[in-house]
Amino acid sequence: MRKALFLMGMIFSLAGWGQKNPVAEINRIINQQETEAHLTFLAADEMRGRDTGSPELKIAGNYIANYFRQYGLKTVPGAEQYFQPVDLERFTPAKDASASIGDESFIVKESLIVLDGSEISWQGEFVYVGYGSAEELDKLNIAGKMVLALAGSKDADNVNKVFSASTTKYADVKARGGAGLVEVLTLSQFPFPALANFFMGAPRWGIKSGDSTIPHVWLKPADVKNISFKEGNQYAGKLEIKGLKRELIDGRNVVGLIEGTDAKLKNEYVIVTAHYDHIGVGKPSSGSQDSIFNGARDNALGTVALLQTAKYLSQYPTKRSVLLVAVTSEEKGLLGSRWYAEHPLVPLEKHVLNINCDGVGYNDKTIITSISLGRTTTDDVLKKAIKPFGLGLGGDPDPKEGFYDRSDQVSFASKGIPAIKLQPGLAKMDDEIRKYYHRQADEVSTLDFEYLTKFYRTFVHAVTLLSNEPASPFWIKGDKYEVAGKKLYNRN
Ligand SMILES: [Zn+2]
Repeated sequence: MRKALFLMGMIFSLAGWGQKNPVAEINRIINQQETEAHLTFLAADEMRGRDTGSPELKIAGNYIANYFRQYGLKTVPGAEQYFQPVDLERFTPAKDASASIGDESFIVKESLIVLDGSEISWQGEFVYVGYGSAEELDKLNIAGKMVLALAGSKDADNVNKVFSASTTKYADVKARGGAGLVEVLTLSQFPFPALANFFMGAPRWGIKSGDSTIPHVWLKPADVKNISFKEGNQYAGKLEIKGLKRELIDGRNVVGLIEGTDAKLKNEYVIVTAHYDHIGVGKPSSGSQDSIFNGARDNALGTVALLQTAKYLSQYPTKRSVLLVAVTSEEKGLLGSRWYAEHPLVPLEKHVLNINCDGVGYNDKTIITSISLGRTTTDDVLKKAIKPFGLGLGGDPDPKEGFYDRSDQVSFASKGIPAIKLQPGLAKMDDEIRKYYHRQADEVSTLDFEYLTKFYRTFVHAVTLLSNEPASPFWIKGDKYEVAGKKLYNRN
């Protein structure tokens, strides 16, 4: 009896001690051997660069799920056995295509680019709408007609803006029952052959967007300055697209849950993400026969941050619930995280924070980098989190590069969820980064495991403190995602 009481007392005091000394426990639980072991497995040559659609990416997914299982993480409905199915689509460009509209005709790659759609042999009326804003489209009856428009919008002055406005317009045309969208490019600063090669040179990837699809085509007019079409006019014409293939490929996000310990806060979720895919095998690098893009930094490194977080939190859960999600196909256009944000496993507004880890590369071992520094209310907690591990905190090294909007956190931010990105110290974009970034040289043998272990400890401490904070985080006033955040959480 006494012995039992003594043991009970010891268990309570141990639990209490652990809670009070998370730093000591993190140092004990997260160790360098394990860091090295995980990274060596995930970035090995035999994993062949973990490309989307490859068997090796499946093996990497199984590896992650197996550790979630070993650590006793819960599964979430919709992600049985820790896997959330992600419907990916591989789009093989058309082999042949042509259009004739009134007196003008267009030929694939020379003067015609197919951006979207499926095989088609269409004949009917083209209606010319100028730029064709949503309001303009509403005034016309475009159902069943091919919409002929100027590409992009009035104020789109570079090819990225044209593409973005064009994508929105395509969705508008689809929603209004149009037969397709055919746009005439007016900007000439980007050579047409380069555009054609970009969009039609190799297969592209996307997430399955629905069952029906309509053509989306860009044309190069004979005379850019004097487009012969007149607004409101209709032209008889034809559109043919041949040899275009759309294939469904099964993708998987790997999802594990550590339930929160606080009766109220456990209904709020911190979602920790890292992509586990990379870009596979390519041409051998010059000077060596190495054709494997191992992706040790990008992003075996971030994947291991998830595994370390799973290990620690399974022993010391936080007040809030934590979802650990290894997302697929970041390299093909943030596809896994976009899929999750469109098909969340708990209601979106219950996600209070996204913490993403994407390795890229590091060149300052005295800091960790938060690309999102200054954008959310999490900064003070982050500063507290890094202190015991002797590292400083750096921000976005080059905001005009647009790093923030180029990795998975943006899938959550654009829905309004405060989203931060933590990674090993990236002080500036220099040759030390370029030497490895999306190169065959991004090998595990070039990693500093001692520094990375320190990084992981810091990362896990940050997740712990942020998931225990009494108040949920939010965007700093004026941030570009603040409006989306207010809408998502119904805040004023
Ligand atoms: Zn990458």
